[in-house]
Amino acid sequence: MTSPKPRGRQFFANPGPTNIPDSVLHAQAHVTIDFNDPAFLEVYDRCVAGVKQVLKTQSEVFFYTASGHGAWEAALVNLCSPGDALLVIETGYFSEGWAHMAADLGLQPETLASDWRRGVDLAALEARLREDRDHKLKALCVVHNETATGMSLPVPEVRRILDRTGHPALLLVDTISSLGSFDFRMDEWGVDCAVGGSQKGLMLPTGMSFTGVSAKGMAAHATSTMPKHYLSWTQMLTRRHRSFVGTVPTSFFYGLQEALRLLLEEEGLDRVFARHARLAEAVRRCVRHWSGNNGPQLYCQNADRFSDSVTAILLPEGHDANVLRNVALQKYNVSLGGGLGRLNGQVFRIGHLGDLNEPMILGTLSTVELAMQVAKVPHTPGGVAAAIAFLAEG
Ligand SMILES: *Cc1c(COP(=O)(O)O)cnc(C)c1O
Repeated sequence: MTSPKPRGRQFFANPGPTNIPDSVLHAQAHVTIDFNDPAFLEVYDRCVAGVKQVLKTQSEVFFYTASGHGAWEAALVNLCSPGDALLVIETGYFSEGWAHMAADLGLQPETLASDWRRGVDLAALEARLREDRDHKLKALCVVHNETATGMSLPVPEVRRILDRTGHPALLLVDTISSLGSFDFRMDEWGVDCAVGGSQKGLMLPTGMSFTGVSAKGMAAHATSTMPKHYLSWTQMLTRRHRSFVGTVPTSFFYGLQEALRLLLEEEGLDRVFARHARLAEAVRRCVRHWSGNNGPQLYCQNADRFSDSVTAILLPEGHDANVLRNVALQKYNVSLGGGLGRLNGQVFRIGHLGDLNEPMILGTLSTVELAMQVAKVPHTPGGVAAAIAFLAEG
């Protein structure tokens, strides 16, 4: 006999996809509509304007019926030409993936190595850019929030380094797991291509992504010779929607319209960011408490770069994070994120982004504490009390 599925609502604590608010789910369940119907175009145009507001940009935004990887690919094929050299700042699993994609596409990515737990040394970035006197590096690719390690990258500092060294490289930023969770400012930070996705802070199902592209990015696009068609911005600009080669996924835009209403009107971005910062700090206080007695630790060891949307937690030697995740899921119906790539089995991740509040995060933390007892993972009990004490301060 298999054990029965646990009752009650699942606590979904993965860092993406994330929980979808009921009102977004309902909005997305819209009847089929012609994507050129004026009633849809009104919704569509409002969504485009709203996404620009979230990206903090006035520039062009292109949408794709693809998950985030599709938008990464769109950025590379629209901005580059075969053989172009790129510099990718190593942050973890996602920076590795972007570099790998670039190589498969016939580009020449170079990785600026860094310690996944401490983050890149920005002095090394500056030195590498100064060394590139002929400006061979066409673009600098960075991941604003490394979802695999729970570390963010100070994009404004990266911009200052590009400016200070007078390096003309395009700045490409993956903001997939930061957008709508903590501050991102495409125009102010001089980002040439911002890559976003639907299923993280925007609280939508997986399957839509987008790129914001600066004027400098559009100028680079004009001379790009990478083969492309479905993802081509030039193709897209010939359409009424200025996006999509083919059918527009109308249901997504009904969901997006509602998600943008929640983010921009009902709560407001600044309060959304404050909520993420508060819940993230509660998680960190809890994990720090657990870490005593050879307990699990925060994977990120650089307090200046803690991510406010995801925390990766490193288990003590000899303990498998997937065993703990299995206990949480099978016994208590709490879904935790796993370790990605080389961190598989070593870390688990708590997503604290999107449609989330104190009871949801406390429920998750309590269950992790319970599962650690059941799975005999050493820790100092009382982490949840530390989180509560922090949250009670306001
Ligand atoms: C989720 C994510 C992606 C994209 O993944 P998809 O599964 O293709 O949507 C890319 N970068 C980061 C940092 C992410 O968190």
